[in-house]
Amino acid sequence: FGFKGCQKIRGPQIRGLLEAKDFFLFDCDGVIWHGENAITGAAKVVNSLIRHGKNVVFVTNNCTRPRENYVHKFSRLGFTDVMLDQIFSSSYCSALYLRDVVQVRGQVFVMGCEGLRRELLEAGVPCVEEADDGPDATIYNCTLAPDVKAVLVGHDDKLTFLKLAKASCYLRDPECLFLATDNDPWHPLSGGRILPGSGSLTAALEVASGRKATVIGKPSRFMFECISSQFRGVDPAQCLMVGDRLETDMLFGSNCGLDTMLTLTGVSQLEEAQEYRNSDLTTNHSFVPDYVVDTIADFLPAFEE
Ligand code: PLP
Ligand code: CA
Repeated sequence: FGFKGCQKIRGPQIRGLLEAKDFFLFDCDGVIWHGENAITGAAKVVNSLIRHGKNVVFVTNNCTRPRENYVHKFSRLGFTDVMLDQIFSSSYCSALYLRDVVQVRGQVFVMGCEGLRRELLEAGVPCVEEADDGPDATIYNCTLAPDVKAVLVGHDDKLTFLKLAKASCYLRDPECLFLATDNDPWHPLSGGRILPGSGSLTAALEVASGRKATVIGKPSRFMFECISSQFRGVDPAQCLMVGDRLETDMLFGSNCGLDTMLTLTGVSQLEEAQEYRNSDLTTNHSFVPDYVVDTIADFLPAFEE
């Protein structure tokens, strides 16, 4: 007793919370789905919230796909009412940042998946063409674009040493911005395997350049700024951020002044949240969720009459 946060809630408390809030922000992987499989009951929860007139948005650090792909994915997995303007991915928000905040002049060198480049091009942000340097190309003989004004790094499933080397060269120019879609360290796959996240590539470039990247995705506040500029008048006090990772989702909620909920279907465990809560270091308290549920399917009884 005496520690705030990590309140495990159920039944009537969940109903009360859902009635009190009118804006719900959901992380995707670990909350809504695991890869290609929807979390049991999640579609019904999301559909019900929307039908009860609640605002629902999705805030994902997955930068590998353009937003259209998410619309299709939601619909394929039974989330029937999710539209493009409800999806905020770290790739989409990176495009908005480059276009609207820094108003980048010149080209962006993207170290990331094809989907990230597609999102930038859709926003009208010029990207360096994927160079066909030939099979024997090295950093000694490849071509470097002359007017690169930003390096954007994200999860890259076709990473090569040459790309890393090129990005490091561009970052020698102090006028060249250094951005990361997100800083996620790794992602769980089925069968106990993991996928190194964007953060692992950002770290490599940070070491090579001696610089620090500006992070666009969670836990940075910028994604919430994108949401508030699209949904005018969104009041942080009316929001609930639901996520599965303490260091991204809960910190994001804390940074933006939102109430936070940890769901135990993903990366972080209740014990880790309690450790942060019991820590003497007050900065650790920003990782502590206000509420904890086993799964968002625990919302379902709240929609029954
Ligand atoms: N980035 C990549 C490449 C991923 O594969 C994942 C999850 O699978 C994420 C980010 C995390 O996404 P989210 O923020 O929706 O949990
Ligand atoms: Ca997640």
